[in-house]
Amino acid sequence: MLTTAPRGTHDILPGEVEKWQHLETMIRFHCRLFGYGEIRLPLFEHTELFQRGVGETTDIVEKEMYTFTDRGGRSLTLRPEATASTVRAYLEHNLNGAPQPAKLYYIGPMFRYDRPQAGRYRQFSQFGVEAIGSADPTVDAEVILLALDLYAKLGLSDLTVQLNSIGCPKCRRQYRDTLVKYLSQQQNELCDSCLGRLERNPLRVLDCKEDACRRVTKNAPEFSGFLCAECREHFELVKGCLERAGARYELNSNLVRGLDYYTKTVFEITWSGLGAQTALCGGGRYDGLVEECGGPPTPGVGFAMGLERLFLALDQAGIELPGKEAPDVFVAALTREDNATAFELLTWLRRAGISAEKDYLSRSLRAQLKHANRLGASFTVIVGGEEAVRNTVSLRNMADGSQEEIRLDDLISVLTERLHC
Ligand code: AMP
Repeated sequence: MLTTAPRGTHDILPGEVEKWQHLETMIRFHCRLFGYGEIRLPLFEHTELFQRGVGETTDIVEKEMYTFTDRGGRSLTLRPEATASTVRAYLEHNLNGAPQPAKLYYIGPMFRYDRPQAGRYRQFSQFGVEAIGSADPTVDAEVILLALDLYAKLGLSDLTVQLNSIGCPKCRRQYRDTLVKYLSQQQNELCDSCLGRLERNPLRVLDCKEDACRRVTKNAPEFSGFLCAECREHFELVKGCLERAGARYELNSNLVRGLDYYTKTVFEITWSGLGAQTALCGGGRYDGLVEECGGPPTPGVGFAMGLERLFLALDQAGIELPGKEAPDVFVAALTREDNATAFELLTWLRRAGISAEKDYLSRSLRAQLKHANRLGASFTVIVGGEEAVRNTVSLRNMADGSQEEIRLDDLISVLTERLHC
């Protein structure tokens, strides 16, 4: 037990971590293009925030939260998602006083007591954006495009945007009644969870993954027929903007977020190559959430994408992000006596902005060259011997094994030139 990480968690080792850094840098750059600023949120919050902000009847709150009591007797929860925290921070820091909408993004770990499998973990990372303070449909289209353009930049194609509108509390009431009537007639076909949902949160039955429930919901009444004029106009504009941006989408009337504070647009971006866990990204509008969290009525829209799943998709698609970088130079000491000189040269190179490594295991010169090769160094500088007396070093090109004598005073400029040509 002491030598294995808890189930559903994983380490990211050097070699892999550079890919994560690369992705995170791309995300930050991309968010700047779209005008979103980073927000760093606590990893835990008061449990009540998620009960209110995610919803008491959701799987996350009912079954998946890591909740604990701290030494002061408070109930705290490791964040299972970050929309509720972002809304809490928006209210706590009066971000509604700043130019609206507040356009925020976050990258970081989330925690859910989920059943681990490929693409599903108990600690996983999400990149998400939230635009709070605008009801404009172009913002819905903007966040969807932000996600799509990021995937495109990474080289991932053949994604599907599934799109739906779940209206507002006004038009939802009528839809809900019609849906409950339809589902009640086929109660015998529904799974146990959905029987419970039928009472508490019938819209959620629509996205149950059980085959039997799917057979029932396939012919369920569609929301599109129940949208009020305002919600219909909003949805038309979102679709129109996506079309103008050349983004294809599929309408999916079974896509829902079954809580009252989720409104209008909902979407999911899927990639079929992922097998069971096809969802790369999910989001939508939440015009009632800020109020639910204790603020004034304030519209908002956003998404969250899973980064582990994104890496799985990149892997499947054969897209390789830059991994561990090899050192520019390896400094080899001819003998043990030259070790301190090698260290001095190493320091000198690094201060000149040249990445450099040396031997730390008293290896022979032959073994040092082998090690330099394994590290992938472009050059090896050998210090010591007669060259030291002449104030020179041997510079070995690791690609072709050629070696030449260079004056110490010229080493930095020679290396800088060769490394950059
Ligand atoms: P959600 O917050 O449930 O809408 O999830 C948004 C995205 O986060 C999903 O589309 C997945 O890419 C990712 N995700 C959600 N749950 C997990 C999990 N347990 N493990 C890995 N990724 C997840």
